[in-house]
Amino acid sequence: MTHPGLVDVLGAAGRIRGHVARTPLVASRTLSSGRGPVFLKLETRQVTGSFKLRGATNAVWMLDPASASRGVVAASTGNHARALAHAARARGLRCVVCMSALVPANKVDAVRALGSDIRIVGQSQDDAQAEVDRLVAAEGLSPVPPFDDARVIAGQGTIALDILEDCPEVTTLLVPLSGGGLAGGIAMAARAVRPAIRVIGVSMERGAAMAASLRTGEPVAVRECPTLADSLGGGIGIPNRHTFALARAGLDDVVLLTEPEIAAGIRHAYRQEQEIVEGAGAVGIAALLSGKVRVDGPTVLVLSGRNIDMALHQRIVAGDWHPDADLPVEETP
Ligand SMILES: *Cc1c(COP(=O)(O)O)cnc(C)c1O
Repeated sequence: MTHPGLVDVLGAAGRIRGHVARTPLVASRTLSSGRGPVFLKLETRQVTGSFKLRGATNAVWMLDPASASRGVVAASTGNHARALAHAARARGLRCVVCMSALVPANKVDAVRALGSDIRIVGQSQDDAQAEVDRLVAAEGLSPVPPFDDARVIAGQGTIALDILEDCPEVTTLLVPLSGGGLAGGIAMAARAVRPAIRVIGVSMERGAAMAASLRTGEPVAVRECPTLADSLGGGIGIPNRHTFALARAGLDDVVLLTEPEIAAGIRHAYRQEQEIVEGAGAVGIAALLSGKVRVDGPTVLVLSGRNIDMALHQRIVAGDWHPDADLPVEETP
């Protein structure tokens, strides 16, 4: 299996330029204090509210004309769906998004508003994926998976090129980690340019499938749990083609956070940096605040997205969010 490499990331950068925002890298005074310079890569300001537009845009523009004319399809819990809907519309393609009934209403509405055709199927990501497979076979739609796809990984890897251009002295990257398209793509591209760079994946303690897989030495499934970092939920796909290998080769460490730590990250982003960040996007800040990661040289945190329910956000930043009351209690098996 050949995995995407720097050449693919450079190709993606050229392809997506003009279709995605060149997001800012800003210094964080509050996080730098006592620590050495810390910078925030604001993919929160990306069009559609997350970095996922990069990978989706690269995939959409790589389709040959015949495939493009039949359209694209994905199963997604939200941000990838928004991104794919937007990217498909930019090229004038049909887009179908399959979601389980568990996806929050604000996310469903946002994708529908971008003009894609929504299919709500079943109670799990697996049910949504089965509908994708059916549409690929029945209607010839092209699947664009959210992370385990060479075109998508190359698109996400373009974030590393931006960071190295804006902050050539960077020594450590903190990157949110779920399926590993983001962290795998960034680690691969950053290491190709700067072999000594440290790349740390950050996820939540409960239900982190990539962390469990890296520990086990092969892709494994974990039970999904409710979390503030809802964009980090879900499995890594078994079989996994690319992201497990890229994460294993490219990540120096994986750090796992509790729900109160993630809430503290969201709160800090808002109160100290004036940024609205969703749980998944706040894990880099949360990792530093928790003391679970030590950094010395210049450090960049990837703030991956901002798509959070605003009523929930308001409660978190007001200090009126309590994990016991606000996350469904776990059933004992
Ligand atoms: C999808 C997503 C992630 C995780 O990306 P993976 O490629 O699945 O690891 C992190 N943050 C946000 C906001 C996302 O939408």
